[in-house]
Amino acid sequence: MKRGKGIKRKKTFYQKRKICRFCADSSAEIFYRDFNTLKHFITERGKIIPRRISGNCAKHQRHLTRAIKRARVVSIMPFTASAG
Ligand SMILES: [Zn+2]
Repeated sequence: MKRGKGIKRKKTFYQKRKICRFCADSSAEIFYRDFNTLKHFITERGKIIPRRISGNCAKHQRHLTRAIKRARVVSIMPFTASAG
């Protein structure tokens, strides 16, 4: 009796590493009203994705955080997804 293929899971920690997209693309700007850009850096629940996952550099992550927080204040972006 043969069993199905075992699920092989590689550790993908290193594959998740990305370069900072704002450093890579100089035309990309962080602007608090630019929801299309900012939305990539928040979770579905509206939380800011940490730097180690988003792959941003410290400088741009800081800018991004500020932009997102500002976007929340002007209600472009949610603070958290409202339950229900
Ligand atoms: Zn950067």
